[in-house]
Amino acid sequence: MNPGSTIYMDNNATTRVAPEVVEAMMPYFGELYGNPSSMHSFGGQVGRHIESARSKTAALIGADPKEIVFTSCGTESDSTAIWAALKANPQKKHIVTSRVEHPAVKNLCEHLEKTGYRVTFAPVDREGRLDLAFLYKSLTDNTAIVSLMWANNESGVIFPIEEIAEKVKERGIVFHTDAVQAVGKLPIDMRSTPVDMLALSGHKLHGPKGVGALFIRKGTKFSPFLIGGHQEKGRRGGTENVASIIGLGRAAELAADIIEDENTRVRKLRDKLEKGLLASVSNAMVNGDPDNRLPNTTSIAFEFVEGESILLMMNELGICASSGSACTSGSLEPSHVLRAMGVPFTAAHGSIRFSLSVYNTEEEVDFVIEKLPPVIERLRNMSPFWSAAQCKTT
Ligand code: PLP
Repeated sequence: MNPGSTIYMDNNATTRVAPEVVEAMMPYFGELYGNPSSMHSFGGQVGRHIESARSKTAALIGADPKEIVFTSCGTESDSTAIWAALKANPQKKHIVTSRVEHPAVKNLCEHLEKTGYRVTFAPVDREGRLDLAFLYKSLTDNTAIVSLMWANNESGVIFPIEEIAEKVKERGIVFHTDAVQAVGKLPIDMRSTPVDMLALSGHKLHGPKGVGALFIRKGTKFSPFLIGGHQEKGRRGGTENVASIIGLGRAAELAADIIEDENTRVRKLRDKLEKGLLASVSNAMVNGDPDNRLPNTTSIAFEFVEGESILLMMNELGICASSGSACTSGSLEPSHVLRAMGVPFTAAHGSIRFSLSVYNTEEEVDFVIEKLPPVIERLRNMSPFWSAAQCKTT
């Protein structure tokens, strides 16, 4: 590796914008600055390009272009879907979700709980798999919406969304999925999956930040979250973020190749990284169902070390990853996802998420396998918990 070069393994946080996407966006910062809503053809041509981006985004998930509404991010898509379902069913006061959702859904549901809704947070097991029996039992005639993520951003664990959607729809309940981590990594087809609404985000699939989309199945009762102009056929007010929408369309177009690569080459790189680290670091384990995960993600718990210390030392080596902790009120709490999975405190604290992409190379993986184990060893030698654990086992 060249000294000073960055090894980016934090792609579930955000991805590099593909050069082809940047190229497609550039004219919209320059000569193509018209407002797509304008009556003149200078603006109108931009509108036509937005429609082309809509078709490409729709094609990625097997949707009809009319079923795609562009938003500002995954969070807005999630919020829009949940509020719309609640408005459409004002008499129903129950929401079902899971304990491991991204804050985009979790925090909204917790907010709604304070305003009079009853929320069921379905549990997961030690491997991050959803308790389906619990989920189905929790559905009632008062349930307005079931909102579940397709794939977890921390563990990478995939929920069986197709199967769940079938069951939820049999009960006539609105089903929304936060597919922000799944789109671009897994094949998704809305023609064969009875999901009512699906959220996706540009910056997780090598598109730009600040743009997302919400799939709304034809016939789903819907009301806009952003009430304003007639943009997006009245489903989302506000002048369109044209360059980013064009970028999302181009990213969606590239995604077919990327999905293929993610599920072959990237999966192999992830597996090599995981095996290499587990083979050379003792007291290390993978968080999450090893057989049912996103192909790019591994969350590894290094017991008796602080994840933040690992991240800082990896940072010195130019390696970017994430920890399984959230900084709340100045203290480092293991994330709600790892806590919901029942990962022991000593392991959750030292959990590191590596999320790869098609831009990673074998050389980078070899570098991490070589450099990280001595870092863990050095940190453990400074840890009183590690010394105590060693005393117990000897
Ligand atoms: N949902 C999941 C599963 C995510 O991982 C993220 C982002 O990390 C979001 C929603 C929010 O997406 P955005 O950053 O586009 O608002």
